[in-house]
Amino acid sequence: MKIAFIGLGHMGGPMAMNLRKAGYTLKAFDLSEEACKKYDAEGLPIAASAAESVTDADVVISMLPASVHVEGLFLGSAGKPALLDSIRAGALVIDSSTIAAATSRKVAEAAAAKGIAMIDAPVSGGTGGAIAGTLTFMVGGETDDLDRARPVLEKMGANIFHAGGIGAGQTAKICNNMLLGILMIGTSEALALGVANGLDPKVLSEIMRRSSGGNWVLEKYNPMPGVMEAAPASKNYAGGFGTDLMLKDLGLAQENATAVRAATPLGGLARSLYAAHSLAGHGALDFSSVLKLVQKASS
Ligand code: NAD
Repeated sequence: MKIAFIGLGHMGGPMAMNLRKAGYTLKAFDLSEEACKKYDAEGLPIAASAAESVTDADVVISMLPASVHVEGLFLGSAGKPALLDSIRAGALVIDSSTIAAATSRKVAEAAAAKGIAMIDAPVSGGTGGAIAGTLTFMVGGETDDLDRARPVLEKMGANIFHAGGIGAGQTAKICNNMLLGILMIGTSEALALGVANGLDPKVLSEIMRRSSGGNWVLEKYNPMPGVMEAAPASKNYAGGFGTDLMLKDLGLAQENATAVRAATPLGGLARSLYAAHSLAGHGALDFSSVLKLVQKASS
């Protein structure tokens, strides 16, 4: 099986490397020369263009920042040809970017018109999961297409869920990330309140982790520096999942909520709080830095 992998960023680079290590024949591409050089040095075959990477590919995987990039790549934009014109009929496209479900459906429809199958397969698990090959894939699309994709996804992830038809993976992803964004702010508030009252954040974290406030943030991703050595909070909020990416996902959740007339008051408030945090200059920091909004700078 020949695989084209497009988008060698924080997530895509390590995911492509896991496929390479599993023995797949790969051709990778990224618009960033720096990213191409980095992975070329690690032994990943790099194509001269996205179109070249998909020549003869049975599976095309994309891991791009947002809807505009995915739509622009596959359907073409501003004089740039559509990549779908270079992909052979019968091939399978797996888009793992987090984008609007409506964009997934639009691209999948155009692909189907050319005899190309597509699934949306956004991921959870962060850069750590991408490196370790333990991502969770949330898949939207036909069962047969997921079955074709499964052996490839298994080399990059530990959990694969079929959420429903095309776009359903993206919907599941934004529901999850809306909850995560809210949980991070709530956990930050509780920790900041305890610390303002003189509590040791490690002790308070452990009490809440084992009590009814226990949640994934307290288990794996504590926002208070020094509580968890491996968490971005203990590394000046470097690496991890950027505030601006969380902001993007919360924006997608709100767009979707508007479209289906769902009530998501905490999701809307969380989006505004991450937006304010980003405007304050913290967009590139890990999203757990939102703690800064609710904690005294000196404490
Ligand atoms: P990133 O910005 O590090 O990487 C994206 C890469 O895509 C960049 O290297 C960029 O040059 C490349 N690119 C953009 N347009 C391109 C094009 N037309 N052709 C080729 N390359 C192109 O982003 P990331 O952190 O790897 O995230 C990728 C996606 O995964 C996003 O949708 C993000 O929301 C999602 N995601 C990220 C994380 C995380 O922890 N970083 C976790 C889960 C999901």
